[in-house]
This record gives sequence, C-alpha cells and structure tokens, in this order.
Amino acid sequence: MSLKKILTIAGSDTSAGAGMQADLKTFQEYNTYGMVALTAVVAMDPETWSHDVTPLPIELLDKQIKTALSIGPDAIKTGMLGTEEIIERAAKAFQDSNAQYFVVDPVMVCKGEDEVLNPGNTDAMIKHLLPLATVVTPNLFEAGQLSGLGRLTSIEDMKRAAETIHNRGAKHVVIKGGKALESDKALDLYYDGKTFTLLTTDKFQSSYNHGAGCTFAAATTANLALGKSPREAVIAAKGFVASAIKHGWKMNDFVGPVQHGAYNHVEKIDVATEEV
Ligand code: ADP
Repeated sequence: MSLKKILTIAGSDTSAGAGMQADLKTFQEYNTYGMVALTAVVAMDPETWSHDVTPLPIELLDKQIKTALSIGPDAIKTGMLGTEEIIERAAKAFQDSNAQYFVVDPVMVCKGEDEVLNPGNTDAMIKHLLPLATVVTPNLFEAGQLSGLGRLTSIEDMKRAAETIHNRGAKHVVIKGGKALESDKALDLYYDGKTFTLLTTDKFQSSYNHGAGCTFAAATTANLALGKSPREAVIAAKGFVASAIKHGWKMNDFVGPVQHGAYNHVEKIDVATEEV
C-alpha cells in the first residue's frame, strides 16, 4: 500500500497547536505523508501573546508549491492564506496538481485575535476557492461571511448559509457550529447539495481548544486521501477533533492547544448523525 501524500498551504503557528503544525501532526496520526508550502510565520509576544504575522515573499511560496507539486500530493488543504494573491496561488496550485481532493479551511481570523485578516479576502475565497473545493469547513462566522448572510445563530440559518455556499461551487460544506453556536452540544452541519446532516458530540471544556479548526480540516483531508467519502471523512474528523479538544491542555496563561494525538492514544469519541 502506498502512502497518501497531502500538501497543506498554510501559516506557521510557532506555538504549534494550530497552523501547518496542527496539519502535519494530524496527517501523521492518519499515517499519511504531510508536506507544507508556508504562507506566513506567526510568532507571539511571551508577555501578552499578541500575534505577530510575517508574510513570506510570494516568490518563496511559488517555489515551495512547485517543489511540493513535483512530489505529487493526493490531496491539498488550505489554511491561513492572508492575501488575495496567496488565495489565487492556492487555487492555481490545486488546478496545476493531480490531487483529487481540495479542502478549504477559510481562515479569516487568528484565534485570540478579533481582527478579520483582510476583508477583500472573502471575495477572493468566494471567487477562487469555493468553485474548486471538495469540502469547505467554515466556522459560524466564516459561513456568515462566505454566504453573505452575516450573523448566523440557528440551525436554520446554518442550512441557508450551507445552501448558498454550495451554490457558490463548494461540493460539500460543513459549517462548524462548534464553540460559537449556543447549544449544550457541539453541533456541525454537513451539506452535500441534497441532504443536511447534523453531526453531534458532547461539548467539552473550551479553554484549551487552540487549533481545533485546523485539526478538523486536516483530519477531513487525511480521511479523504485515505479513500473515505466526504460525508464519512467529516464524521471521522469530528470524532478526531472532539477527542483532541476534550484532552486539550494548558500551555501558559494565554493559550492551550488541542491534543492532536488524543483520538489514537487517549480516547475515541463517537459522533451522532441525524438528517435535519
Ligand atoms: P474554529 O477553530 O475554526 O473556529 P471551532 O473551534 O468552532 O472552529 O470548531 C472546530 C471543531 O471542533 C468543530 O467540529 C466543532 O464542532 C468542534 N468543537 C468546538 N468546540 C468544541 C467543544 N467545546 N467540544 C467539542 N467539540 C467542539
């Protein structure tokens, strides 16, 4: 059996709970071969944990993508892209590749930071990424932006947003109600253009959940690369990230990452599904 290869186009989180570090750790948990084309480096001030984002020169991104495509990824995932130019590069990377799966995690803010990275990016994601996406994994805020519906507060709102995002070209949409939706369960909504499926786990502690979104999208990508259907891939990814959150840990006074290996090494969590 040959090893499946996955390329992530994403930023570096020096604290390593999120970003390309979360992606690589997650790919490894699935025994897939992770590769990286780095977009930016995020460092944190040890006194305040405020984020310092340094983009890499675009020529350097181009060189990395060229290298990675020569190795032949089976799937490509995107994380923090940051500029319209990089969003276009990520779309082109998938088009130039022979990868079968393109998972778009439409990162708009760094967790812990309120500022939307760049509003023009939303339009660029709609134009360049959604039409190519096998699966897109917005959180509640990102789904509101990508659908143009604004603030989403209910399952009905999530359904309308999922339909709009699907109409904009994404073949499969999973909106993470996760931490933002008011509910005593962690609910995500999956839509394949026909059926809405609610994915549910218990809601665990949420103090140490840094990297949950990246880990969920990375696990979805790994499951697709391994041959699962998009529906099965997001269900598996949700169990994987739920375990990672339940066993998240305190790193310092500011942040606590998820435990990427918890599903395989500590505890497996089941996901309930229901058509809605
Ligand atoms: P993001 O990091 O992109 O904002 P979320 O943290 O909302 O995304 O969600 C990532 C995944 O983690 C989703 O599957 C979501 O349902 C799940 N999740 C988020 N918070 C919790 C929690 N407290 N307990 C269990 N699962 C959660």
